[in-house]
Amino acid sequence: MNSLPQPDPARLAAHERGVARDLELLGLPPANWPATVAGPDGRPALDVLVIGAGMYGVVAAGALLLKGIRNLQVLDAAPEGQEGPWVTYARMETLRSPKHLPGIALGIPSLTFRAWYEARFGEAAWAALYKIRNAEWQDYILWVRRMLGLPVRNGAAVTALRPTAGMVAATLATGEVIQARRVVLATGRPGTGGAFLPPGIDPGLWPDLAAHTGEAIDFARLRGRHIAVIGAGASAWDNAATALEAGVARVDMHVRRTSLPQINKGRGSANPGFFEGWAGLPPAEKWSLLVYLDQVKAPPPHETVLRTLRQPGFHTHFGSRLRTARRTEGAVALGFEEGREEAVDFLILGTGFAVRLEGMRELADLAPHIATWADRFTPPEGEANEGLAGFPWLGEGFELEEREPGACPGLSRIHLFNHAAAASIGAIASDIPGASVGAERLAHRIAAHLFREDFPVMRARLEAFDEPELGPTPFFLPRD
Ligand SMILES: Cc1cc2nc3c(=O)[nH]c(=O)nc-3n(C[C@H](O)[C@H](O)[C@H](O)COP(=O)(O)OP(=O)(O)OC[C@H]3O[C@@H](n4cnc5c(N)ncnc54)[C@H](O)[C@@H]3O)c2cc1C
Repeated sequence: MNSLPQPDPARLAAHERGVARDLELLGLPPANWPATVAGPDGRPALDVLVIGAGMYGVVAAGALLLKGIRNLQVLDAAPEGQEGPWVTYARMETLRSPKHLPGIALGIPSLTFRAWYEARFGEAAWAALYKIRNAEWQDYILWVRRMLGLPVRNGAAVTALRPTAGMVAATLATGEVIQARRVVLATGRPGTGGAFLPPGIDPGLWPDLAAHTGEAIDFARLRGRHIAVIGAGASAWDNAATALEAGVARVDMHVRRTSLPQINKGRGSANPGFFEGWAGLPPAEKWSLLVYLDQVKAPPPHETVLRTLRQPGFHTHFGSRLRTARRTEGAVALGFEEGREEAVDFLILGTGFAVRLEGMRELADLAPHIATWADRFTPPEGEANEGLAGFPWLGEGFELEEREPGACPGLSRIHLFNHAAAASIGAIASDIPGASVGAERLAHRIAAHLFREDFPVMRARLEAFDEPELGPTPFFLPRD
């Protein structure tokens, strides 16, 4: 790991003037163009409400702004700087992604991660950087948000969405209601349906005896103790390493498979073909590849594995299938498939996040109306997959679709811009590589929807548009 580079504020300030100049050269952002539409209370409604100011909420709002959709608002439940996983529950030392990805630049070179990093720390620091540290990534997202002047309100949690024919009402935890013509749900991995808890795990273990990797964990409290980690994905390893570094005496990692997956197929599919082309594939081809990817899974990054192995007290158990976990006299009793039992002081579930409409807080009341893959596609023999069947079936611009047409008017005004979109639209609302492509697609489709709805106003404005072109010529015809 490199020592931390020192920022150069003057150089960054000069770069920021360069960003403003780039936007000016590109004529961005254009003037606001959609019609002003009143909500039920008679006051102008937002054109777009973006829920979530993590990486995807910021890039979505940025793309909308650059299309001249300026009447928008971004909300995030978290305080500023704490959005998403990077400085909260992501327990890796660096991002898993390579450093050269452009980030959330929306095609503007001065907004890339590299441009920001070099402006802040210098070219030599960039050359010396191995992988991006979590806090640097968070700072970069905040910087893009500031460069684009995005209107973000932190500490604002949306609890429910209620669509009607022309509008969506978003209710906040405070009871405040915001009306918007379109809503973008950029609620991240936890927002796809919550932590995935395998059956047999007693919820009564929380909070003192168990945690999911997506939760806050007081590792200092576990010093000298014996813990079990279930799963072998990247987060399971990050948590095992963090626990051991914090002084946990022993970590047993239980893995259902007999070996770790070897190849990260996600990296192999991070190219414009997959990003642009996936949405247009026939459902059967999407499904077949999704089933394959679900079977092969992805390995943890080798840096994470090596970090864990550097610590004493780490033990892996392959082919070890947990059946039950329950509370017993201040400890966790683990029961395994082969009948073996074991007690540990604490259990960490590295079991990932579910994709489940009922688990999406904002959509819970609407879930019965939302079409899923189970409603629209029957898998061929041998390709049944319950997890994938629960993915929502989305329109080309990430729109939710009604299970029964007409049963929930306005549902398609909600755009689901998180990993739950992966089955329908591809991995362009999931990870870093697809972020700008996904945001472009989203903004493009929202612009088209707004224009279509506003067409009478657009036409009237055009007819009223009367900027004379020929004034300085002999052919000018003054109006009466
Ligand atoms: C531990 C971890 C490590 C990862 N590492 C990488 C990596 O190295 N490379 C990579 O490409 N991808 C990585 N990913 C995947 C992906 O890039 C991240 O999950 C990323 O955070 C996705 O950005 P997002 O904006 O969709 O979600 P988030 O960053 O999670 O942001 C969602 C935001 O929505 C807010 N929110 C949610 N619900 C509401 C609500 N109802 N009201 C108001 N606000 C709400 C949350 O507070 C949060 O700030 C990682 C994921 C995890 C979980």
